[in-house]
Amino acid sequence: MKIPAIYKQKKPVFSLEIFPPKRKTNRESLYDTVAQLAECEPDFISVTYGAGGNIADNSTCEIAANIKKNYGIETVAHLTCVNSTREDVQEMISRFQDADIENVMALRGDIVPGEDIRREFRHANELAIEIQRTSGDDLNILGACYPEGHYQSDSLDSDIQNLKYKIGAGVRVLITQLFFDNSAFYDFLDRARGAGITVPISAGIMPIVKASQIEKTVQLSGASLPHDFTAMISQYEFDPKGLYEAGTQYAIRQIRDLIEHGVDGIHLYTMNDPNVAIRVWEGIRDLL
Ligand code: FAD
Repeated sequence: MKIPAIYKQKKPVFSLEIFPPKRKTNRESLYDTVAQLAECEPDFISVTYGAGGNIADNSTCEIAANIKKNYGIETVAHLTCVNSTREDVQEMISRFQDADIENVMALRGDIVPGEDIRREFRHANELAIEIQRTSGDDLNILGACYPEGHYQSDSLDSDIQNLKYKIGAGVRVLITQLFFDNSAFYDFLDRARGAGITVPISAGIMPIVKASQIEKTVQLSGASLPHDFTAMISQYEFDPKGLYEAGTQYAIRQIRDLIEHGVDGIHLYTMNDPNVAIRVWEGIRDLL
């Protein structure tokens, strides 16, 4: 099923994101994770794409296809372009089509400073154009957006103007970068709608439940940290059980507030941890 049809049928759409394990030997344990995640009755699961863009050892297509076939859950395969040639991109698109994948998230990918990038595609909108050109209506296209602005853009307004290129290139659904301050999301939504962006926008939420995520995810995300969040971190930074519980509850509160404000969808960054995803889902299922 094409994802926009799900947004037409229900609100909020509830989706999960997973990433392919680095080692092939861990692939089976990912499917155990998916079997557990299926308990949350997600409307779709999205599978990220390795940042290097190397298609030879990329498992996104295979994983997304297997989830759809074996668990009957709709999937979205992510695809990045900044490190790929046009031929690589065309090869991946035809793999997606052969595997019956119907939804692709078109992404630029991060640019590692000093790294030699291919520059055949400079932005996600150029990838979206290529997907449409190659696949016609076969593949539905999703894209990323940034409630607090992308780190390379001069301002939130210029980032939103650039976002319109994606919509023009055929992106039908947007999913946000993680954020911890709902008021930033509401402000972004107002501005995006004001700029004429009408496609459904799912809010990306990541529960922070481990101290290691504070440095890796929280600091790198550039997301603003409201007082409640920093108070939680200082209270539980060295108390693993306490942080697990408080982080889960924070995400539940954030999501309940978003749903009460009429959000189109919730996209949970699971970090491949089914226990956290299930706990969060249990805390919001009455609203789904
Ligand atoms: P773009 O849309 O190209 O935007 C990048 C910057 O360029 C922005 O500052 C924007 O304002 C500007 N811009 C956009 N279009 C134009 C234009 N036409 N002209 C001039 N400026 C423009 N990374 C991965 O490697 N793999 C993944 O699977 C993955 N999944 C993600 C999923 C989500 C929901 C999100 C939010 C991010 C994901 N990322 C992933 C990270 C993403 O690749 C990076 O955030 C990257 O830096 C930007 O990607 P983009 O597609 O938003 O780029």
